[in-house]
Amino acid sequence: MRFFFLVIVAGLSYFLSAEPTERGILASEALKKLKEGNQRFVEERVMRPNQTFDRLMKVSTGQHPFVSILSCSDSRVPPEMLFDQGFGDLFVVRVAGNVADTDEIGTLEYGVGHLGTELIVVLGHTKCGAVSAVAKGASVGGHIPALVDNIIPAVKKAKGEGVKESGLIDRAIELNAFQGIEDILIRSKEIRHLVYQHRVTLVGAVYDLSTGKVKWMGEHPDQERILKFFASEKSHTEGAEGSISKPDTGKKKESSTLKSPSAVRSASDGDAAAESAGP
Ligand SMILES: [Zn+2]
Repeated sequence: MRFFFLVIVAGLSYFLSAEPTERGILASEALKKLKEGNQRFVEERVMRPNQTFDRLMKVSTGQHPFVSILSCSDSRVPPEMLFDQGFGDLFVVRVAGNVADTDEIGTLEYGVGHLGTELIVVLGHTKCGAVSAVAKGASVGGHIPALVDNIIPAVKKAKGEGVKESGLIDRAIELNAFQGIEDILIRSKEIRHLVYQHRVTLVGAVYDLSTGKVKWMGEHPDQERILKFFASEKSHTEGAEGSISKPDTGKKKESSTLKSPSAVRSASDGDAAAESAGP
């Protein structure tokens, strides 16, 4: 009797949850879909999938996007268009300079923890005004300094690489995409745990405004080192989804205590003279 009850319950829950969605597709498959979509876009043979009213109705009852994307607010960088996708496909955070600060990271935690996306793309773009402003040392007011301070490490790194002045902004834009990944990995225990478990992949990319093409840069070059630095955390093998609700408070106050990539490197190398992440 109990067995039949379990069968009925299992069957009912399957029926209730069964939807023709792409929820939980592998990061590699998600990346392939994005690459193919961008290729169609570049070659002007877009299919505009999932942009019908039917699709709109279908996803009105729930969303199962196949990727989370952190990109810039720039009006020339609309992810659904440049990846040739539609309603319910992409879970997108857009913020000037595609920076990963508290709210952006919280949103991405929701994307991977609750919506089940296995891929996070941090997407920069050429001629990014936010990165350019930092690289040129432009004077900004209001709340903008608190925003662009997230970009400063990338510009410092680009300068540290000895890049020529003419290529400085382009390089800073690439490094800023990696900076976003780094900030996510350093600040989000939840996402870091999913990366440890090979359940989430983070890749950097840069969209070229003049060609429409996305340049894929892969994982953060120091990802292993960053993960290793945090590997001593007691609970890193535990499931992370249940702890998504942990508040990340002190949005800007916290930034002064964040570990910069150099700090992570220095600390993991046993060097006590870690750099500050601040400007
Ligand atoms: Zn931008």
